[in-house]
Amino acid sequence: MANQEDNLFKNVISHAKEYGFIFPSSEIYDGLSAVYDYGQNGAELKNNIKEYWWKFMTLLHDNIVGIDAAIFMHPTTWKASGHVDAFNDPMVDNKDSKKRYRADVLVEDAIAKMEEKIDKEVEKAAKRFGESFDAAMFKSTNPRVLEYQKKIDETNARLKDAMSNGDMAGMKQLIIDLEITDPVSGTKNWTDVRQFNLMFSTEIGSLAEDASKIYLRPETAQGIFVNFLNVQKTGRMKIPFGIAQIGKAFRNEIVARQFIFRMREFEQMEMQFFVKPGEEMKWYEFWKEKRLKWHLALGLGNDNYRYHDHLNLAHYANAACDIQFNFPMGFKELEGIHSRTDFDLKSHEKYSGKKLQYFDPEDTQNFIPYVVETSVGLDRCFLGILSKSYQEEKLEDGSDRVVLRIPAPLAPNKVAILPLTKKDGLPEKAQAIMNDLKYDLRCFYEEKDAIGKRYRRQDAIGTPYCITIDHQTLEDDTVTIRDRDSMKQERVRIADVRSKLIDACSINNLLRKI
Ligand code: ATP
Repeated sequence: MANQEDNLFKNVISHAKEYGFIFPSSEIYDGLSAVYDYGQNGAELKNNIKEYWWKFMTLLHDNIVGIDAAIFMHPTTWKASGHVDAFNDPMVDNKDSKKRYRADVLVEDAIAKMEEKIDKEVEKAAKRFGESFDAAMFKSTNPRVLEYQKKIDETNARLKDAMSNGDMAGMKQLIIDLEITDPVSGTKNWTDVRQFNLMFSTEIGSLAEDASKIYLRPETAQGIFVNFLNVQKTGRMKIPFGIAQIGKAFRNEIVARQFIFRMREFEQMEMQFFVKPGEEMKWYEFWKEKRLKWHLALGLGNDNYRYHDHLNLAHYANAACDIQFNFPMGFKELEGIHSRTDFDLKSHEKYSGKKLQYFDPEDTQNFIPYVVETSVGLDRCFLGILSKSYQEEKLEDGSDRVVLRIPAPLAPNKVAILPLTKKDGLPEKAQAIMNDLKYDLRCFYEEKDAIGKRYRRQDAIGTPYCITIDHQTLEDDTVTIRDRDSMKQERVRIADVRSKLIDACSINNLLRKI
């Protein structure tokens, strides 16, 4: 990570703590690695993101319904899903720094560095050749670029091979051949690469003799698969249809050093879309596009998103891609879109002995549906929004301000109600305005400190509007509305405040933009 971005990330993390968005879990005991709590403002922002997703799925698509399955599931679920045998990450330690890494991530980072080198060559050449420069032609002929590309392709092929065959010695050899050094110790002194299962287990049952081992779900998807027929039958759903769910998932991640990007307890927003076999690629493309639009409507900048196709497909997938986001530490996975075939339902049929098939009334046939999944991390959405909203600004008068330009519909509070002084009946008037607005807009009331200071505090938690009640309010029933982003103030009649703000702050309006 470049130094500037590194600093930005550090500032975002400390801002999140200072302003009640995210605290380390059980902080009074020095925290718990890769586990975090959401504070008073974080919980609101998180709930708003959930609402935006849930409404998108279940209101805008009349063939999608939502469920809320339990975290604990019958242990055979995880045998059938492949998680007991294959939910592993390759782990490697550096003997000098004693730091632990995911071997595949080390290799992927090395590939990203080679890709950067190609980009630099292209940039240099573009400057040299000016307008007549043809980037595609340059990439396909320049010997240095071709050399890098060859190495990238070879590395990708070896990585794919090692990952799909569980060949840990091959992984280690790849790390050696690429001359990967530990960013902390700077040495190449690596242990062997070992497989590490990411599932947490615990015991169910009160007596030791009848207790049995169960897992904390590592993904919410399986709760949807095992309920496929329940929902299909009771909801009289016709294929194609989807089941959506928001819930906690748990993974004993090997490396958990990137704040809420990679946590051991996190939340997923997943939707499984059940389709006719053979139609999955059409729906895969459909959902790729739809999900990107959902992200783009937030207005955080279209350049901050990109697709990344998977070369190493998971055991259940016949096509998969990520929507990556430009996080402070670079482009990384925000959401996964996977064509999961009939792997899960078929496997649950086998292990449970129950039929999990759909009867098609049109061609009077039974079949196991194929599934296209969209799976986005709620915490990663949160991190993306927080880090892109965070801005340190120098104002015209030379002062500084830190502002969170959170999209208004997602902001923890929509309006701050600020009586200019604590006397002359201004607080009472302000309370009356708040009592009227609070049913439609989340309000925050504050009368302490100078108004400029209060504005800054609201900027720092991303409140899009401040309403100031002053002496003129008592005379003519008008207030000023201050806009967080432009800092412009406008005098409006109290009677017009609601209609003025509600449009900009409504999640439903955000949904209309998709
Ligand atoms: P990664 O490659 O980053 O480990 P993944 O491919 O294993 O992620 P999926 O199993 O596809 O992730 O999970 C779907 C989504 O859940 C991811 O796109 C991500 O947003 C989120 N997610 C996965 N693992 C974590 C985690 N440890 N902490 C926070 N969010 C996570």
